[in-house]
Amino acid sequence: MVTPKFRRVILKLSGEALAGQKGYGIDPDVVNSIARQIKDIIELRVQLAIVVGGGNIWRGISGSTKGMDRATADYMGMLATVINSLALQDALEKHDVDTRVQTAIEMRAVAESYIRRRAIRHMEKGRVVIFAAGTGNPYFSTDTTAALRAAEIEAEIILMAKQVDGVYEADPLKNRNARKFDELSYIEVLNRGLQVMDSTAVSLCMDNQIPLLVFNLNEEGNIKRAILGERIGTFVGGELND
Ligand code: UDP
Repeated sequence: MVTPKFRRVILKLSGEALAGQKGYGIDPDVVNSIARQIKDIIELRVQLAIVVGGGNIWRGISGSTKGMDRATADYMGMLATVINSLALQDALEKHDVDTRVQTAIEMRAVAESYIRRRAIRHMEKGRVVIFAAGTGNPYFSTDTTAALRAAEIEAEIILMAKQVDGVYEADPLKNRNARKFDELSYIEVLNRGLQVMDSTAVSLCMDNQIPLLVFNLNEEGNIKRAILGERIGTFVGGELND
């Protein structure tokens, strides 16, 4: 059996990743294909926690720019992540992957509440833990949730699954000559305003030395490649030891 480079990881999935071509809502075929990729890595005995976004359903900032109270709009966004988490749990369990959803906003009828030690215990038992409802606080993002939870559970890396194959100096769809970075430091990401994570999340990773790998989710098998330590995407952080 191949040996994974990382033993405990956080996978950050944006809400859009679940929407597929539609760009809105949940595409069960797409969720199913993500679940298949996850099953592959669980078989490598990797401890995996997933943070799911909610942008495919609702983003707080869109509501607040149209006059809604920002905190209320953000709570709606956090609830959207719970919907996505349940969809992902359903797909994973169809692939016989034991899964627990832990929510930062108490919702006893649908999910466990977030309890750090219990989350770690689930992972040690081979269960995938899905962290829902973000940090539970408005004005934050699910990128920040990924950074926070990674620090809490001592994950070795955050795998940032995107719709592009890494971080570029400019939007590759608008500028065909835009260069892709293989490696970046946190400070470069912040200074250049690169689209990796929001700045709160990057700062949290920097302060706690949590590395990131930005890679393309749409290429089947990429989650496994990332966990095996293959040089895909863009690495952000300290040295990538071989
Ligand atoms: N959100 C929040 N606090 C958090 C995490 C998320 O208020 O700790 C809200 C915020 O409104 C955000 C929405 O939930 O816009 C969806 O999360 P995010 O935008 O991070 O999702 P993604 O872009 O990853 O799909």
